Amino acid sequence: MIKYCILFLFLVQSMYSHSQDIAYARSIIDTLSSPSFDGRGYVNDGDNKAASFIAGEFCKFRLKSFSRDYFQAYTFPMNTFPGKVEATINGKPLKAGEQFQVWSAAPTINSLFKLEELKGKNITDPKRFKRFVARNHAGKFVMVDKKGITDKHLLSRLDSLKYTNFLNASGLIFISDQKLVWSVMAGQQARNYAVLDIRREATPKKPRNIALDIQSSFVRVHEARNVIGYVSGKVQPDTFLVFSAHFDHLGRMGNTVYYPGANDNASGTSMVLDLARYYSQPVNQPYYSMIFLCFSGEEAGLLGSTYCAEHPIFPLKQVKFLLNIDMVGTGSEGITMVNATIFKDAYRRMVKINADNEYLMAVKERGESCNSDHCPFYKQGVPAAFIYSMGKEFTEYHNPDDKSSLLPLSEYKDIFRLVRDFMDGMKGQDKR
Ligand SMILES: [Zn+2]
Repeated sequence: MIKYCILFLFLVQSMYSHSQDIAYARSIIDTLSSPSFDGRGYVNDGDNKAASFIAGEFCKFRLKSFSRDYFQAYTFPMNTFPGKVEATINGKPLKAGEQFQVWSAAPTINSLFKLEELKGKNITDPKRFKRFVARNHAGKFVMVDKKGITDKHLLSRLDSLKYTNFLNASGLIFISDQKLVWSVMAGQQARNYAVLDIRREATPKKPRNIALDIQSSFVRVHEARNVIGYVSGKVQPDTFLVFSAHFDHLGRMGNTVYYPGANDNASGTSMVLDLARYYSQPVNQPYYSMIFLCFSGEEAGLLGSTYCAEHPIFPLKQVKFLLNIDMVGTGSEGITMVNATIFKDAYRRMVKINADNEYLMAVKERGESCNSDHCPFYKQGVPAAFIYSMGKEFTEYHNPDDKSSLLPLSEYKDIFRLVRDFMDGMKGQDKR
């Protein structure tokens, strides 16, 4: 462990030695969302570069480890796009990430395809829809336009196309009226047909054909790591409080587009590192032991936190509370707490601390939702909540514009103070 840290300290020596507070957070977010981390996904081992960087910070703070180093390794399969991702419609090239995106389960594909449109009456008129379905779509791409469709049953039928491809087409295109939102959730499987989302303004009036050059690589065994460190408690070291955040993001969609993930979740990662930095100072040594959990694999389906909760390297029964932090780069409208309606006392205390100190506009309550890394621990019986910030000052999500230069960190300092006071307030409350 010590040898391991000396190597790291040598590498990262005094990188941030003069930075403080928001400057520290900003430097971490800048670093994690920079192109050299490749969007902290699966191409160029971006997630593992981030894991090593976080472990280096843990070393600097002299955090303790439950293992030889700070890592917990596990594996999962993932479809990746390390090479070309190009699309040309009616001879006009589209801009990757902005005008089109490719489904994470798509195969390698390099060909020109005829386009067929599925829209309007061909969807709403059952007879015409039946006739359209019965046609032979092999070798073609079907372009689905949901504009004007309000029937929920029809909409879910169209959405299911993505997973069932019941038209047996070579591929599908969904026309999007919103800014594109990418995901790698479907990437644990590789399919034999492609699905694309294309912005409406990038589609021609009469779409005739689409040329695709997409290189995908299915990695059967991607080796990922969670990063886990702790500070021993002064009074009750056998009881644990946990701060967690996922550091992975979507990575690359081809060699020209990467997803910086500044808000999602370099912001939460920086806060967990900042808290580790704070509690590692002897003057702030906590009453209970404080664990800092940084997860990989969240974007692929909470894989890192699920592995950690199912293969715990510290006794989950001794965890008094876990607070997960995911997307805290805004805050002009306060924060929301997921599981607030389950852990009512914790929520009330959070609200009171916030009001007493006038930190944030609001601490809103939300019920159970398995939407971030608190969930696998909650399922194991650990008292766990999740907070995220709210505010219209920054709305980029799962797109190439979720970058540090645009992220305001409006209430970062007050969110930090609130969660710190909240955990400090656990002191002496010996009932779980
Ligand atoms: Zn995300």
